[in-house]
Amino acid sequence: MLLREVAYARPSSLAEALEILAADDGARALAGGQTLINVMKARAGSPDTLVDLNGLHELRGIELGADGTLEIGAMTTYTEIMASSEARARPILGEVCAQIADVQVRNRGTIGGNVCTNDPTNHLPPLLAALGAQFTIQGAGGERTVAADAFFLGVYLTAVGPGELLTRIRVPAGRNDGFAAVTLGVEGTCIVSAAASLNGSVRLALGCVDAVPVVLTPSSTDADAVRQAVRDAALEPPSDVHASSEYRRHLAEVLAVRATDQAQRS
Ligand SMILES: Cc1cc2nc3c(=O)[nH]c(=O)nc-3n(C[C@H](O)[C@H](O)[C@H](O)COP(=O)(O)OP(=O)(O)OC[C@H]3O[C@@H](n4cnc5c(N)ncnc54)[C@H](O)[C@@H]3O)c2cc1C
Repeated sequence: MLLREVAYARPSSLAEALEILAADDGARALAGGQTLINVMKARAGSPDTLVDLNGLHELRGIELGADGTLEIGAMTTYTEIMASSEARARPILGEVCAQIADVQVRNRGTIGGNVCTNDPTNHLPPLLAALGAQFTIQGAGGERTVAADAFFLGVYLTAVGPGELLTRIRVPAGRNDGFAAVTLGVEGTCIVSAAASLNGSVRLALGCVDAVPVVLTPSSTDADAVRQAVRDAALEPPSDVHASSEYRRHLAEVLAVRATDQAQRS
């Protein structure tokens, strides 16, 4: 289906992009376009102006700090993360990006677009929640940094407000991480996903069982403790054509154990 007529702006600086977004209620950021353009084609959304972020070099790239912290620009693609020697400081990032869809989507899709969409079936919201990532948001009034629990607010809803942009994501140092998912086919989105990080304590995040990633802190890595933590969360996942609520609850336990096992072995 053809797109409705839409204005297009390609700012050459972050300041210019923020100015255009602040001046026009109907303007939306365009990152990789792998969700937004499909949404526009389906007429589920129809921005008046697309503000293309692809010319903003300040939103790209991955820096590795001396303490092992990664700073990832919001416009960094999945393929760039997979290929980055800096990102290997947290190998799970590249491993999970490699599981997202196909080469075309990975070449265009960005880490910022993935989390700003906050589609519960996306791979990166639960992963970044488990890793304890911090999200930097910039608007006319300056910038602020929020943790995952303050960033993911609902389905397709995040802390990035009108006129604002996610600029970068900070991932703390660590190596003992795991991710497990049951997907729709080999390259499909998740039916349920689980990410685990064992750096200090156990931190689990479950995807597709609620509007936002559900973060849990099991008392140990023992499979029974992990299963109990998932049961204690009293999840009420949605039922749909892909899985019943009961099956998603079952998958959440199984995948939480698998992700924790991988984290222990990594
Ligand atoms: C065939 C197909 C299969 C897919 N399978 C998967 C999958 O298995 N797993 C998965 O995780 N994803 C999957 N996706 C989604 C894909 O990962 C998208 O790339 C991602 O959801 C959005 O990223 P994007 O860079 O393309 O953003 P866009 O589509 O350009 O933007 C998405 C939304 O985020 C906003 N946005 C983007 N960047 C910023 C920013 N810096 N600041 C503020 N707002 C911003 C936009 O305004 C828009 O509302 C799939 C997509 C397709 C087409």
